[in-house]
Amino acid sequence: MASITVIGAGIAGLSAGWEIARRGHHVRVIEADRIGAGSSGGTVGALAPHAPDSWNIKKHTQFQSLLDAERFWAEVAEASGIDPGYARTGRVQAVALTDLPRLGARIEGAARYWRDAAQMWLTQDRPAGPLVPESPDGWWLMDDLTARLSPRMAGAALAAAIAAKGGEVVLGRTAGPDDIIGPAIWATGAPGLAMLGADLGRKVGQGVKGQSAALRFDAADAPQVYAEGLHIVPHADGTVGIGSTSENSFDHDGVDAQLNAVIARARALCPALKDAPVVDRWAGIRPRARSRAPLLGAWPGRPGHFVLNGGFKIGFGMAPVLARITADLVLDGQDHIPEGFRLQGSGDRPISGA
Ligand SMILES: Cc1cc2nc3c(=O)[nH]c(=O)nc-3n(C[C@H](O)[C@H](O)[C@H](O)COP(=O)(O)OP(=O)(O)OC[C@H]3O[C@@H](n4cnc5c(N)ncnc54)[C@H](O)[C@@H]3O)c2cc1C
Repeated sequence: MASITVIGAGIAGLSAGWEIARRGHHVRVIEADRIGAGSSGGTVGALAPHAPDSWNIKKHTQFQSLLDAERFWAEVAEASGIDPGYARTGRVQAVALTDLPRLGARIEGAARYWRDAAQMWLTQDRPAGPLVPESPDGWWLMDDLTARLSPRMAGAALAAAIAAKGGEVVLGRTAGPDDIIGPAIWATGAPGLAMLGADLGRKVGQGVKGQSAALRFDAADAPQVYAEGLHIVPHADGTVGIGSTSENSFDHDGVDAQLNAVIARARALCPALKDAPVVDRWAGIRPRARSRAPLLGAWPGRPGHFVLNGGFKIGFGMAPVLARITADLVLDGQDHIPEGFRLQGSGDRPISGA
């Protein structure tokens, strides 16, 4: 039985910690602050697929992860006794007549690559649910692959599941690469990209700020909405998560007037939210690798140390598969890292079509 240290109690570190504990090994997660203190403590929790046209390895890997999610989160719920709020409730988007030729290729891609596991379709029948946005041309694009997860409940459930398997989650301890003896997995988000870049002497990524909110509105298991770059996600607890801004430069890490604009846009898109009270305002710094893909692999020059980072905008959706790939590498020496995700090699070059 190996004993593995994971640094960072965000979605990446906790998911890898759980996967290692699930396989019967001892795991110790070390977190500088609290669970979800980085970008994993927000309100949105959309597990939304990439558009299935122009298929590539990143889209394939994310698809596998979205399919794995149901089993992954059911096992976490069972081990922890905490409901992470996972449900595959689907997604609706209002589309314009002029988009239809382009969407044909997307639907063909879904049929070809998602096969029988999930579907995407166009409809002129107004979908059911209180949040469906108006479509001036009367067309909506739907899929039944998109799911939701409560970011905070997922973090709590993973930590409890790790503890239930005999692992530890140590909060309030900041670690540096020189004071941890491997095997160690560095899942330290945006600060971790800066630390890694300083060690390697090259930029490997940067933080991109996002702001999101939660509104009190019970849309139960209605499909989530994607419109004008916004995710509008009904959760099991009677809230709707909405987000996000995407800020490459910022001078503070808290919420500001940009979030008011996001809330106003969501209310305009989904009039049912017009009077829904705002119950949470939140901001986090997403870890974006230069490749915009997840960044995985051995930490160059530090034997026994591994990196799990770069979740950027899809860290929750990718968590099951990244946890599995990381556990395979660290526990069994099996390298299943997808092309373009690797830290050594092409890890910081863009993937074509991504
Ligand atoms: C507004 C917003 C909305 C989002 N919406 C979605 C969404 O709907 N769906 C989706 O899939 N993704 C979404 N994301 C992206 C997702 O949140 C990130 O991809 C994900 O949180 C990254 O997780 P992580 O564990 O890699 O990093 P983090 O969550 O940032 O975790 C890193 C942790 O490491 C700790 N740490 C750092 N350095 C050290 C150290 N030296 N020692 C100890 N601990 C340390 C930090 O305190 C932190 O807790 C969103 C992000 C934002 C900001």
